[in-house]
Amino acid sequence: MREHLWYDATQVHIGGAWRAPTGGGQLDLEDPSTGDLIGTIARGTADDIDAAVMAAQAALSGNWGSMSAVERGRILTRIGLLVQDRIEALTIIEATDVGKPLTQARNDALALARYMEFYGGAADKIMGETIPYLDGYTVYTLREPHGVTGHIVPWNYPMQIIGRSVGAALAMGNACVLKPAEEACLTALAFVAIAEEAGLPPGALNVVPGLGEEAGAALAAHPGVHHVSFTGSVATGEKVQAAAAKNVTPVTLELGGKSPQIVFDDADLDAALPFLVGACIQNAGQTCSASSRVLIQRGIYDDLVTRMADRYRTMTSAPARLDANLGPLISARQKQIVEGYIAKGADLRLAGQGIVAPDAPATGHYVPATLFADVPPDHSLARDEIFGPVQVAIPFEDEDDAVRIANGTDYGLVASVWTDNGARQMRMAKAIRAGQVFINNYGAGGGVELPFGGVGKSGHGREKGFEALYGFSTLKTVAARHG
Ligand code: NAD
Repeated sequence: MREHLWYDATQVHIGGAWRAPTGGGQLDLEDPSTGDLIGTIARGTADDIDAAVMAAQAALSGNWGSMSAVERGRILTRIGLLVQDRIEALTIIEATDVGKPLTQARNDALALARYMEFYGGAADKIMGETIPYLDGYTVYTLREPHGVTGHIVPWNYPMQIIGRSVGAALAMGNACVLKPAEEACLTALAFVAIAEEAGLPPGALNVVPGLGEEAGAALAAHPGVHHVSFTGSVATGEKVQAAAAKNVTPVTLELGGKSPQIVFDDADLDAALPFLVGACIQNAGQTCSASSRVLIQRGIYDDLVTRMADRYRTMTSAPARLDANLGPLISARQKQIVEGYIAKGADLRLAGQGIVAPDAPATGHYVPATLFADVPPDHSLARDEIFGPVQVAIPFEDEDDAVRIANGTDYGLVASVWTDNGARQMRMAKAIRAGQVFINNYGAGGGVELPFGGVGKSGHGREKGFEALYGFSTLKTVAARHG
């Protein structure tokens, strides 16, 4: 796969200009499908973050800060159209960088365009209120941008996460500093070039690739940043929140999950089956909202596990360009972690497993899709976020039992309930601790319009939909006494 370059992967992008990172450091860039080094990316430093924050502040003091909401919206809409024009190029870049099968990478590029379309249209539709108050007063609220927003994103869905977080922040008139993941940052660099081509003023979006503990930590701790949006692991989220707390900077944390699908014996199993498996193996299981647990009512348990296992046996892991069911994992380290979990399941029932394509390069990071059955809810495979294509099936007796197991992890990101019983649908939706509950479907990460975020160790704050626009703005109350 050949890259289509209209950006410079070896540089940072600050104040509308490409420049070498301070100190000139570079980091190796690997293709996870082959393990080959395919280039280098900039190793941005704390000085680069500082320069990016200053460039963002300058944009806010300049024409970006004074631009009308409708004009901001038009720019975002134009960005979406340019992304749409480059879907195939972005698909290939992301497939190479992340190891995503082409169809899945294309979906991410389309989602990025859709986020720009959504937030472009929404930019001038966020309004304040007037509040009835004392006689002789007029009171109203103003929705204002935070100012400089920091965005720290992971490698698993770069385009989707940039779309939902940077898109909403720009729509509200913030100026952004984006720190993409060191494992996959190319579409972030491609995106800023597209955004400026569409008319985004210099400094409104700055991109500084680099290591988490260098550039990322500097961004989280920067006193000139007024809001931090972090998507990534719980351990890093804790550090980001602690660093931001020193400046009393608000933080949105989009962290991990152990999201359950709960299947009752009255469900339409033919409709459920593709979602039950697909929502886990998507992006080789490296999805925060992957449904890595399937809870199945006892009476249909054996039959449904057999049908899921049959499906697993058809799953192939192969290089991204072959567009198989699964690509490789992002790195040798991630592969080692996931294989460690599969080894921990040695005492469990291995119900079904896919294959790694025989001609997949041995230096790529492939793990077969794996289904374990009869897994005790307190087993580490049923509690830990594995972040690989490993799913567990757990039997349950009744609604109470299902709720107890579903709510029995530290996480609460997404859940689904499969049942034709309307009253049960409502009861379960209320009883489950999660940021999103799907009924008779499952949207792993999907739905630009749907507010998304977690409870518990899945994080706090909401992105996507209109809710993100509230998160990326602050409310000012104006009370005028006029007699
Ligand atoms: P990670 O926490 O290691 O890295 C995420 C980002 O944080 C990267 O850009 C990294 O460079 C940066 N970072 C690392 N150390 C830092 C520090 N000390 N200070 C500031 N930034 C730092 O996560 P990962 O392994 O890349 O991603 C996988 C995790 O992300 C999983 O747990 C997954 O569930 C989660 N995730 C959550 C969502 C969601 O929306 N809830 C979406 C995607 C991924």
